[in-house]
Amino acid sequence: MFGRTIRTTFQEVSITVTKKAKCKFCNKKIVRRKKFCQTINPFNKNSNGEIKQSSEIREELKIEKNKWLEDLNEYHQKCYEEDVL
Ligand SMILES: [Zn+2]
Repeated sequence: MFGRTIRTTFQEVSITVTKKAKCKFCNKKIVRRKKFCQTINPFNKNSNGEIKQSSEIREELKIEKNKWLEDLNEYHQKCYEEDVL
């Protein structure tokens, strides 16, 4: 399907998070799921120039996750369009 490209698979570190928010237009509940992931690979280095370990990646994903969870500015695409148009 993708031809004969040779691909190296790197170990993936990921977390999947569910967020419950309210649509800012219709006030109905919205449930969103998001996956945060990074792979352990020779190009994914930390500020010391070392390859990030899974524990390090997990810490970073946690920060990203918390930022996303704090952002409750969610809405249905449909509601948004109805409000704007
Ligand atoms: Zn809505």
